[in-house]
Amino acid sequence: MVNSLSPSLRRIVVLGTGGTIAGRAADGGDNIGYTAGQVEVADLLGGIGAPEGLELSAEQVAQLDSKDMEFDVWLQLARRCAFWLAEADVAGVVITHGTDTIEETAFFLQTVLAPGKPVVLTCAMRPASSLSPDGPQNVRDAIAVAATPAAQGVTVVCAGAIHSALDVQKVHTYRPDAFASGDAGPVGYVEEGSVRRLRDWPQSPVGKSRKFFETKDGAAAHWPRVEIVTSHAGVSGAVVDLLLQERTAVGAEPIRGLVLAATGNGTVHHALEAAALRAQDAGVAVLRATRCASGRILPRPDDRLRDAGALTPVKARIALMLELFETPA
Ligand code: ASP
Repeated sequence: MVNSLSPSLRRIVVLGTGGTIAGRAADGGDNIGYTAGQVEVADLLGGIGAPEGLELSAEQVAQLDSKDMEFDVWLQLARRCAFWLAEADVAGVVITHGTDTIEETAFFLQTVLAPGKPVVLTCAMRPASSLSPDGPQNVRDAIAVAATPAAQGVTVVCAGAIHSALDVQKVHTYRPDAFASGDAGPVGYVEEGSVRRLRDWPQSPVGKSRKFFETKDGAAAHWPRVEIVTSHAGVSGAVVDLLLQERTAVGAEPIRGLVLAATGNGTVHHALEAAALRAQDAGVAVLRATRCASGRILPRPDDRLRDAGALTPVKARIALMLELFETPA
């Protein structure tokens, strides 16, 4: 690959967090019965050459199945990204990650860092021990994106596509091409080490939530509790009412935010809506996010509960947590 980055940008840093990409099964033909997070990130780079004129360095930040992702890993990742991106010779950061929550980590990092250099998350649907693993090509493609001049923001690279952290969603349980960007479509594609870009790199304003990882207040224990409750046929307001009752229980972390995974254009079953309004009146921040895979909620003048626009429920939850972090309880 021809690299025309500024000569001062010489390094790509690869941070490992585990996932299927670092997973191992007893049998090479087994693509589901594996244990995630077994192979060191430095070993995932074996056989993947650095683009011309660049060097790769690896750092293990965590080693877990991303279904078990925790806030303290996000904090650690944000801190390590901020550290490496501030180094004058670092062109970009690549993060190896499990597919299950990669869209949440990507959205979190884009929201708190809004990096001017590329942070590229990548993953695999098949373990490292597979007869035909998809991880090595994904890592190679992610490095190519991180080495692309003027690339910026947080992206997810999988199966040759580059997705913005703001739009990406896991949409398939098994296929290697498991991600989509809804209406927005991918940012571009990686073809034989070259990026074919279709639209702008992700950009978002750096919120005050940057404090989240820069100060001690960002300690995981202090993250505001935000729960997701789904609206569906036959739902009641019982879960929301229980969450409200818990606010007075000794030792319980009181709920501060509620995301309603709403139907269609942000509609909510009347029983759940009544409970959500009770919660809102009691001081809980309530946000409606659509369950639909694509599209955004178009607001109506008579809406009594705020909407999260195009954000999925899991991303709306992160946005609300960061918003509440700014607002003392
Ligand atoms: N459970 C795995 C993880 O998210 C799935 C994967 O990486 O594909 O870590």
